[in-house]
Amino acid sequence: MPNVADLINWLNQVFPFSFAESFDNVGLLVGDHSAPFDSIALTFDITPEAVQQAVALNTKVLISHHPVIFHGLKTITPSERNQRAIMTAIKYGINLIAMHTNLDRAIGGVNDVLAQRLGLKNIMPLSEREEIPHFIRIGEMPQAMPVGEFLQWVCVRLNTKFLRHNSPTNEIVKRVAVCGGSGSQFWREVSQANVDAFITADVKYHTFWDAQDSLFIIDAGHYETEVPVLQSLRNQLLETFNVPIHLIHSENPVKYFVYDDTGNN
Ligand SMILES: [Zn+2]
Repeated sequence: MPNVADLINWLNQVFPFSFAESFDNVGLLVGDHSAPFDSIALTFDITPEAVQQAVALNTKVLISHHPVIFHGLKTITPSERNQRAIMTAIKYGINLIAMHTNLDRAIGGVNDVLAQRLGLKNIMPLSEREEIPHFIRIGEMPQAMPVGEFLQWVCVRLNTKFLRHNSPTNEIVKRVAVCGGSGSQFWREVSQANVDAFITADVKYHTFWDAQDSLFIIDAGHYETEVPVLQSLRNQLLETFNVPIHLIHSENPVKYFVYDDTGNN
C-alpha cells in the first residue's frame, strides 16, 4: 500500500513545493509521512464538513487547495472552523495536504486548467524566462468575440452568473490573460502583454479604476476561477495511484444576491 511520503513525492515532482510563495504553507500540514492510504480525497478548502466526509468515506488523505494552517495557530480548540477540522483530522488519522501557490504556478495547475476551461489555445506563462513559471497564463480564444459574447462565454465556462469588470479596452476579445484567485496585483505586468482581457478575482475598486484605460479586468470570483483544478488533479492522481480518488465538495463561502425588480424573486 502506498504511504503519504509516496504521494508527497509525486506531488512534489509534478507541482514542486519549491514553486510556492515564501508566505505560503504547502505540503503535509497535518499527519504522518509513514501513514499508508488506500484512497485519496480532494477538496477546495479544509472545512469541518469536508473532514467529516473524509471520515465517512474512510479515506486517510485529504488534499486541499487552500492550506488549513496559514497563519500561526496558538490553539487547537473547536472555537474556529479550521481548528475544528484539524481536531477531527487528527482524531481519525486523516492526513491533510495543501497544494496552494505551487499548484497555481506549476504547468498543469490552477492557471493552466483555468485557461483550458475557458477554451484558450496556445496557452503560455506570462514570462518564459523565469525558472519558475509565472502565475499568469496567456492564450487565445478559439475565435475572436465581441465583448458581450465573451462575458457570456466566461459565465458559462466558469459556471457563474456574476462578473465584475471595468470598461473594455477593445470591442473584440481574442488574446486573454488569466490568474485564478487574487491576481489583480499583476495587472500592470499583464497590461504590457497586449491582451484584450484579464480574468482574475478579488479585484478592488481602485484596481479597476487605475487600470481602466489600459486593461479590461474581469473579476470572475475566487472560488469559480480556482476550483476547476480539482477535477484535473483527480484525473492525474487516477493515472498514477491505483486507488479511488474522491472529490469532496467544499462550498463557496461567497454568496450572491441579485435584486430582481420585476418582483419575480
Ligand atoms: Zn485561492
